[in-house]
Order: sequence, then structure tokens, then C-alpha cells
Amino acid sequence: MKKSTLFKNCLAVAIVNNADEVIRDADIFVENNQISAVGKNLTVQADEIINCENKIALPGFVNTHHHLFQMLTRNLPSAQDAKLFDWLVYHYEIWRNITPEAVHISATCALSELLLTGCTTAADHLYLFPENVSGELIDAEIHAAKEVGMRFHPTRGSMSRGKSAGGLPPDDVVQSEDQIIKDSIRVIDKFHNPEDFSMCRVSLAPCSPFSVTSELMRDTAKLAREKKVQIHTHLCETIDEENYCIEIYEKRPLEYMESLDWLGDDVWFAHGIYFNDDEIKKLGETKTGIAHCPSSNLRLGSGIAPVRKLLNAGARVGLAVDGSASNDSSNMLQEVQRCMFIHRIKSGVDSMPAKDALRIATRGGAEVLGRNDIGSIEPGKAADIVLFDLNSLAYAGAMSDPVAALLFCGYDHRAWLTMVNGRIVVRDKQLVGIDQFELKRKADKIAKGLI
Ligand SMILES: [Zn+2]
Repeated sequence: MKKSTLFKNCLAVAIVNNADEVIRDADIFVENNQISAVGKNLTVQADEIINCENKIALPGFVNTHHHLFQMLTRNLPSAQDAKLFDWLVYHYEIWRNITPEAVHISATCALSELLLTGCTTAADHLYLFPENVSGELIDAEIHAAKEVGMRFHPTRGSMSRGKSAGGLPPDDVVQSEDQIIKDSIRVIDKFHNPEDFSMCRVSLAPCSPFSVTSELMRDTAKLAREKKVQIHTHLCETIDEENYCIEIYEKRPLEYMESLDWLGDDVWFAHGIYFNDDEIKKLGETKTGIAHCPSSNLRLGSGIAPVRKLLNAGARVGLAVDGSASNDSSNMLQEVQRCMFIHRIKSGVDSMPAKDALRIATRGGAEVLGRNDIGSIEPGKAADIVLFDLNSLAYAGAMSDPVAALLFCGYDHRAWLTMVNGRIVVRDKQLVGIDQFELKRKADKIAKGLI
């Protein structure tokens, strides 16, 4: 049966098109899973009419990098002030006991938190497959995404270089390269849907240059190109990583990845802080993507990614909350705010206007994930829409630019309504059909068991 929704009288609709158009006092008409019309005083018949006075509408945010399972190990006292390599070594000892149930609950929690803060599409980088675990961990998170209604880009991660082979992770959390390639094929064949409006697209994602071998990096890229899926990894997050690559591979990180055929419009890297100017030029020319993670970079003291330079060079840039244990939240609106501010320190106060931060968080993310069916509020695009309520003291006096007010002001990051693929999953700032207190109770119990 055809289902239609009319969002009536929005205070403002940010289209996020090439002109950065914002329409005041506008309506949005959705039929099934697509946007049919946007404009003032639409005269249409709808199954449901939602009064959107005082609400602003944006395209749903796109989160381009996460480790959902890490929400079970947020805020551990021993890791609160550690830098990346120490932080990882400490967490591996806990993560090695992860179970499919833990992955399912943590994905349900973290994806729900994303939906509640305006995110409608999320990528996840699951690279942990301990040898003592029975059951399919990645299947568990894909099922969770389907249940909560998130448009999902799971990446089949991998680690093959354990401690005894000169890598960072313990040997019992790494897999053989045969196992990794075989399971990557299984996951793509079982879950990947390349069609428009797809709710699940799989990518392949070796964890980092210091946790997999060169052979696996190369074989993964080859397999991904055969299967026409994207590839993803962590790159240039810290100086320690740069030193590791120079010492082990005698190349800078990007130079190393280029030698393994890891540049192009089907590749995206998480973080991308330590690129020099020549490398930035190369990323732009090859249309390589970057998942920018400001909160995680601040939390771990990693550095500030050269986002303005990357954008000017033509690279694709999206936004990401990164794993829940290095953030320690899955709050997308907060991430957009931090993105708007962090670059002003290094690149000047005018280097990241609100509209650019918003664009990175929506269309930018869509581009990074290789999608042109999401990222803006235009007819023909997927009905991924988020509305925020500006009728509170937090925004008083800021109505000269309601869209920017969302980033400059406010203390409540919850979306008033979130729609994904035409389905309303958050209404009146509450998850639809999910008891968040029951969910928290389960997550806390599993987290306690793990720790
Ligand atoms: Zn990460």
C-alpha cells in the first residue's frame, strides 16, 4: 500500500544542493521511501500530515566511520587519557571476549543513539573476529541495523598481523588471510545490495597498516574491485603510525597505500590527519574519500585533519563519530558542531562556516559512501529526513539564521523526528518501538561481564 507523509510548515528546510538553498516556511512531501516535492504551500493529499512549526528540516546525517561494538567499553578509567596505540593495546584485552550477543546489543544501542541525534545512514568498521568466538559477529550487527531501521554500510574488517608477526593486536584476535577473504566473499554475497535506496551495502576494511599484511591489503582491494564494493581503512591518524610505516615499509602511509592500489573513488580512509600538501593534491586528483572524526581526534589528542585543504583539492570528505570508546558517544549533531569549530583554530575563523560543516555531514558523507540517492532534500532522493525543534530557550534570539542556530546554539542534541527510507524511527525525541531503558540495562550487563 502506498504511504505518504506531508511535513507541513517547516520553519526552514536546508536542501543542501549546490546553491546551499534554504527555504523558509516550506513543506516536504514524501511518498513511500522517496521525497516527491519540496516547496511552499504544497497542495497534496497525504496519509499523514505532520505540523512542523518551529522545526527545521535537514537531510539525515551520514556517519562514515564507527566501531559500534566499542560502546560497551566507553569511558574506561584506564583508557580515558591514553593515546591511540596504548589505548588499543589496553582495549584488545577486553574486546577479545566479544560475543555475537554483545555485538547485537551494542549495535542496537549505538545505532539508536545515532538515529536520536539526526543520523540516517551509518557505516561501521567491524574488524574484531577473535578465534574463540562462535557465530557470525558481522551478521549480528547487520540484523541490529535492520531492526532499528538505519540505512547501513557495514564493512567487513580484518586483522591478520598479530603481535608475533610485528603487529599491534594479540595473536588470538587476528585471523588467517584465507579465512578473511573467504568470509568477505560470504558477507558480500549474503548482504550487499548495490541498488538505489539500498538499506545495506557492504565494503571491505582491513583495520590499519599496523594490523594487516601488505598481501592482505592488496588482495582485499582486488576482491573488492571484482565484487564492485568499496574499500576502507584507518590512515594517517597519528605520528606513531607514520613512524611505523616508515620503519616497517620504508614509505609514508599514503605512499604505502598507493603502492598497494589503494587510491581512488572506491576508497575511503578514516581520520587522514597527517597528509602533506603533495598527498592532499593526490587525494583530490584520485577522488579518494576521508572520514573526518573530530571528537575522536580531540579525545585521543591525535591532531586536526586538514579538511579545508582536502575540500579545496577536490577530495571527498564526510563526517564520522568514530568508535564509541574514543568519542565516547554516537552523537552526530555534536560531531557537526565540533567539525565547525575545530578547524577555526588551525585554518582560520572563516575556514568552516556552518553550511560547510552541514554539507560535509550530509552530502559529503553520501559521496564518501558512493551514494547519490541520499544527502539532500530534493525530489527523487531517498526519504531520509531529520527535523530539530527550535522552540526552546536554547535558540531564543538566534532566529535570523535558523539552520546555523542548530550548530551555534542549543544543548539538547536530540532530533524531534527522524525518518529513514520513509519510515519514522524517532518521533517526539523518542525511539519508535524501542525501550531505551531496557536496552541500556542489557548493554550495562554485557559491558560489566566483558570488563
Ligand atoms: Zn576507527
